[in-house]
Amino acid sequence: MSRESMELDVVVVGAGPAGLATACRLAQLARAAGRELNVGVVEKGVAVGAHIVSGAVFEPRALAELFPDWRERGAPVKTSVTAESVEWLTGANGRVRVPEFFVPRALRNHGNFIISLGDLCQWLAKQAEELGVNVLPGFAAADVLYDGERVAGVLTGDLGVARDGSHKPTYQAGYELKRSARCSRRVAAVTWDGGSKRVTACAPASTRSTLG
Ligand SMILES: Cc1cc2nc3c(=O)[nH]c(=O)nc-3n(C[C@H](O)[C@H](O)[C@H](O)COP(=O)(O)OP(=O)(O)OC[C@H]3O[C@@H](n4cnc5c(N)ncnc54)[C@H](O)[C@@H]3O)c2cc1C
Repeated sequence: MSRESMELDVVVVGAGPAGLATACRLAQLARAAGRELNVGVVEKGVAVGAHIVSGAVFEPRALAELFPDWRERGAPVKTSVTAESVEWLTGANGRVRVPEFFVPRALRNHGNFIISLGDLCQWLAKQAEELGVNVLPGFAAADVLYDGERVAGVLTGDLGVARDGSHKPTYQAGYELKRSARCSRRVAAVTWDGGSKRVTACAPASTRSTLG
């Protein structure tokens, strides 16, 4: 089957914070070195941030390394942690507040922020695009393309396929996003993790931004 293809030097799979930060950093380094580097980010969600479970306590050190002027650029990181407590649940209704002295450093969040990770991803995607990165929402990487034993790119999933595998009138074959001869890397081992998060809608009056 003939497929449309796009040549890129780097294909990043997934427009989460890691993928977008990678794309931004590569584009920054290429720009600083005066080199042309075609970086693309494919995201299976219809929009960047659509598949990101919203809400995170955010430690801004890495963001400050990537964009020292993140505040001036309007990053959606505005609500700082102003109060926190760690409580030991002693029974169905009982709890004891753990004295701050005993709270491990990793559980102390003063200086951190409460953010929407989806909003941060949208903002990072905008920064990436301003650096010349192709951000491609709506494209899921479905397979790895090889050139011999070397990774040559990714194949995006076909669109318009019915449950029984037949092609709908809207069928569109996936794209080949291939390296342009300059870069290649073996695929790293994939590790999986799991978790759950409760997203709670709050009345506007009960929320506040500390940085305006
Ligand atoms: C329940 C829970 C709570 C958390 N709370 C916090 C917190 O409070 N503070 C904190 O700092 N961290 C928190 N984390 C961790 C944080 O969410 C992750 O570290 C972070 O999201 C990882 O970023 P990532 O870019 O690697 O992956 P992800 O955020 O998972 O992003 C991956 C992206 O890739 C896309 N994608 C996946 N497969 C494909 C494909 N085949 N083709 C195209 N696109 C694809 C997805 O749609 C998604 O947009 C939490 C994690 C969980 C699970």
